[in-house]
Amino acid sequence: MEKIKMTTPLVEMDGDEMTRILWQMIKEELLLPFIDLKTEYYDLGLKHRNDTDDQVTVDSANATKKYGVAVKCATITPNAARMTEYDLKEMYKSPNGTIRAMLDGTVFRAPIVVKGIEPCVKNWKKPITLARHAYGDVYKNTEMIVPGPGKVELVYTAEDGSETRELVHNFAGPGIAQGMHNLDNSIESFAKSCFNYALDIKQDLWFATKDTISKKYDHTFKDIFQEIYDREYKEKFEAAGIEYFYTLIDDAVARVMKAEGGFIWACKNYDGDVMSDMVSSAFGSLAMMTSVLVSPHGYFEYEAAHGTVQRHYYKHLNGEETSTNSVATIFAWTGALRKRGEMDGISELCGFADRLEKATLTTIENGKMTKDLALITSIQDPTVLNSRDFILEIRKELEK
Ligand code: NAP
Ligand code: MG
Repeated sequence: MEKIKMTTPLVEMDGDEMTRILWQMIKEELLLPFIDLKTEYYDLGLKHRNDTDDQVTVDSANATKKYGVAVKCATITPNAARMTEYDLKEMYKSPNGTIRAMLDGTVFRAPIVVKGIEPCVKNWKKPITLARHAYGDVYKNTEMIVPGPGKVELVYTAEDGSETRELVHNFAGPGIAQGMHNLDNSIESFAKSCFNYALDIKQDLWFATKDTISKKYDHTFKDIFQEIYDREYKEKFEAAGIEYFYTLIDDAVARVMKAEGGFIWACKNYDGDVMSDMVSSAFGSLAMMTSVLVSPHGYFEYEAAHGTVQRHYYKHLNGEETSTNSVATIFAWTGALRKRGEMDGISELCGFADRLEKATLTTIENGKMTKDLALITSIQDPTVLNSRDFILEIRKELEK
């Protein structure tokens, strides 16, 4: 069989620990035999990040701006323990944070839905993709313990020195206060990424805030989304047969529980933090969650939502067998290959991505899976496979 040709490279961001092992297996068994794989390789493994003073992370983000599509392996975010383990020169920031800031992107997380792994919410039939605005609000707040009676105010000092004041509260006794902010251009980028991604995957977009209570702060989010929608996206949404739906956050939560899925839910920073954990746990497993970073300029970076699965890696290093789920990492590759195929007009590449996803799901539906899924599946007597054998079963299915 002739291998599928590519014209433009994918930006390949390699990573750490168990996912780095899976990465290699996926390439060897599921990609290289079928595709003349063209990638521009960046080693984001912690050792190489340290060797390059983290320049490699910046270079990989710049390459994503150049080529438009990247696929990323999970990476270690250094903490005190990693400083010693890898003898690091400094406590580098999370690569995901660096890349997201450089691409000005929004992260969309979507569960991979497969027969045999039923969501806890029985009416959820299709994935719910969650988009979290990753800037500002309570995550960049300033807070204060108010020790006793006194006045707390918000003060805006304009460049000309003039002041505008708003009373927060006249305290009669001790209490607490906080100041938060957000930026119009960050909200605009968030909105555009959401509208673009909804068009990309042809699904409705939901957005919700508490604008009835927060008449300036949250209302600004609502207004910016609506203005951009009316000006730039309304016609495109109508042509694609999809809808932009705004409602109050509490109404959105109530509707999500009753919905069947198949839409994107855009959330403010805090709502997204909380709701993404609820949605992912209800869909079954973190190992079945994909993630894509979408920039308002149309760059895409695909990855698994889980981390480097450190505990399994240490078993692997000890020569013990592991049963680590590679599904989300496989879907990161298929997402990126499909996007590359769409951008370059290579339908064989899109077709291959579809077939690889189907082969992966069919393998699980046939009862062959890793341990994490075997523990939660409704399929009787599943076969528990080790990390490599699961990938080999997918290859057999793909070659059928
Ligand atoms: P993790 O790697 O997501 O793993 C936590 C636990 O979840 C695992 O021990 C395992 O449970 C289960 N799990 C996750 N993915 C799995 C998979 N594919 N197959 C089977 N089980 C899976 O989170 P962590 O241990 O907290 O973090 C490890 C490292 O990953 C950290 O250094 C962190 O900085 C990094 N991280 C990176 C990213 C990213 O690059 N996007 C995201 C999150 C974390 P059992 O042990 O019970 O089997
Ligand atoms: Mg959270």
